[in-house]
Amino acid sequence: DLHPVRRALISVSDKTGLIDLGQSLEARGIEILSTGGTAKALRDAGVTVKDVAEVTDFPEMMDGRVKTLHPMVHGGLLALRHNDEHLASMEEHGIWAIDLLVVNLYPFEATVASGADYDTCIENIDIGGPAMIRAAAKNHAFVSVVVDVEDYSKLLGDLDQHDGSTCPKLRKKLAQKAYARTAAYDAAVSNWMAGALDLKAPHRRAFAGEWKQTLRYGENSHQQAAFYTDGSNRPGVATAQQLQGKELSYNNINDTDAAFELVAEFDPTDSPAVAIIKHANPCGVALGDTLADAYQKAFDCDRTSAFGGIVALNQPLDADTATKITEIFTEVVIAPGASDEAREIFAAKKNLRLLLTDGLPDPREPLTAFKQVSGGLLVQDKDVGYIGLNDLKVVTEKAPTNEQLRDLLFAWKVGKHVKSNAIVYVKDRATVGVGAGQMSRLDSANVAAAKAQRMADELSLSESLAKGSAVASDAFFPFPDGLLEAAAAGATCVIQPGGSMRDDEVIAAANDAGLAMVFTGMRHFRH
Ligand code: 5GP
Repeated sequence: DLHPVRRALISVSDKTGLIDLGQSLEARGIEILSTGGTAKALRDAGVTVKDVAEVTDFPEMMDGRVKTLHPMVHGGLLALRHNDEHLASMEEHGIWAIDLLVVNLYPFEATVASGADYDTCIENIDIGGPAMIRAAAKNHAFVSVVVDVEDYSKLLGDLDQHDGSTCPKLRKKLAQKAYARTAAYDAAVSNWMAGALDLKAPHRRAFAGEWKQTLRYGENSHQQAAFYTDGSNRPGVATAQQLQGKELSYNNINDTDAAFELVAEFDPTDSPAVAIIKHANPCGVALGDTLADAYQKAFDCDRTSAFGGIVALNQPLDADTATKITEIFTEVVIAPGASDEAREIFAAKKNLRLLLTDGLPDPREPLTAFKQVSGGLLVQDKDVGYIGLNDLKVVTEKAPTNEQLRDLLFAWKVGKHVKSNAIVYVKDRATVGVGAGQMSRLDSANVAAAKAQRMADELSLSESLAKGSAVASDAFFPFPDGLLEAAAAGATCVIQPGGSMRDDEVIAAANDAGLAMVFTGMRHFRH
């Protein structure tokens, strides 16, 4: 049923739009109760306000920890207006009904993101706010609860439409949103504490994100979709600033994330790096002398697939690279910055999406990764496994040269970001063949070799791009066949985890084929 709004309680940390709202409510004859800072802001703007402290007959105390936690407030929010007993209790204790609650919480997530110390974060856990929100939301049959500044106008519109009342549909929607907010809030607190305690994935964690945007559709056009952020403020697609181009799609976000996570593996102070991604798999990754050089090398790995790709850079976009990128159709470019000249070059390509971030994500940051299965979630530590030169064990008669070692480690890093089974051929710090997501390792080796051959044909080269390459396998070769396929394609050295029952056979095959091979002792499955 429609329910009239006669009395409102406003208690907000984010004072955006507050004065407008206060004035609008006052103009509609609604009495306003408020807490310290909110009351002051409203009064300063000439809005008549009653202090909650006056209603509760208790002062705000303990640094604001206790402001609204009182039966005069919670009774006013929770009382069922059509229940005689509830009405009698209100009468007996002088409790007045509160019909509208406007609360936004202490900025806990922003406080954590700002790098504040432990005690400051603790002080920014709102207690009374969520208690009121949950009470008002429970009693949405009568009470409207607004937790988002964006909803002020919706509320006022509803009041106007219904002659000073709110409609049940709006109240229900607001209540649903309110519980999403308190759930996300407590999840943020719990996850922050898990971080502070250094708890790993298997510990109990809360799952909630902050809604960021509704997407046009999901993976396919018949699926609805939205984008949520986890409040971590990590550099990446979730926090990037979009400078131009069409709205990001669900697949764009997924692929851009894959691209940026991959390129972030390469230290920008060592070398410029470029990754081109299609369907969450790299179709070209390269280091170069310049960013434009790296882009060219990445592009030359698989020009066919690069069409309509997502490009990630580990350094700010410069004019040369921008020019090269605009030569073919590209969906998204993500980079830690862009020069003015580069921005101008891109501006001519209206549809090209340009995302800029503050820096690169830290590929070793211990995070938690989630994957949905029917009726549940799989939770694990993010794969931050790292292999350096000292972790490698040479298992063949031949040892790799320094140049080969450099390419092997590059291939290994790329392989970590390729869907299993992953086989990656690399030459001169650039991929020359990527085999992704095949159901057998042999097939992945085949696919990668075929791509290297096709590109060589396209470039009119006399031999396959894989000739003289380094090859990485994300998991061990269970049989010699995949390894022999790589050797046949022209690979001269191999990096793989080792650990198969048939390692001896595989090593013998490598020796027979004249390959140098190193074991990492770590695998990088990615499904
Ligand atoms: P104000 O700026 O009006 O002094 O404070 C507004 C903030 O106080 C809002 O974010 C609201 O959620 C929060 N708040 C309201 N009541 C209580 C309470 O009893 N305890 C705590 N910790 N916070 C409260």
